[in-house]
Amino acid sequence: MKDIGMARKLDGLGRLLIPKEILNTCHIQPSDCIEFLLEGATISVTKYNDQTCEFCRSKEELTAFKKRFICSKCRYLISHDDL
Ligand SMILES: [Zn+2]
Repeated sequence: MKDIGMARKLDGLGRLLIPKEILNTCHIQPSDCIEFLLEGATISVTKYNDQTCEFCRSKEELTAFKKRFICSKCRYLISHDDL
């Protein structure tokens, strides 16, 4: 994670305004859905990815096929069906 030298104070309701420069860098539009990730006491905010594997719902290493997605693990298992 990179320190970009920006600090913001939460408002009285705990809300945070994400600077426009960060939104632009991360290709996030004001109406996009975002999700929060926690690791210890560190909060990360990322654009919500609603694309999941058709079989296991993983969001990792997806490949599109006919407007649906399959992860690399399921793709491997399908191609090695004889295991
Ligand atoms: Zn999968």
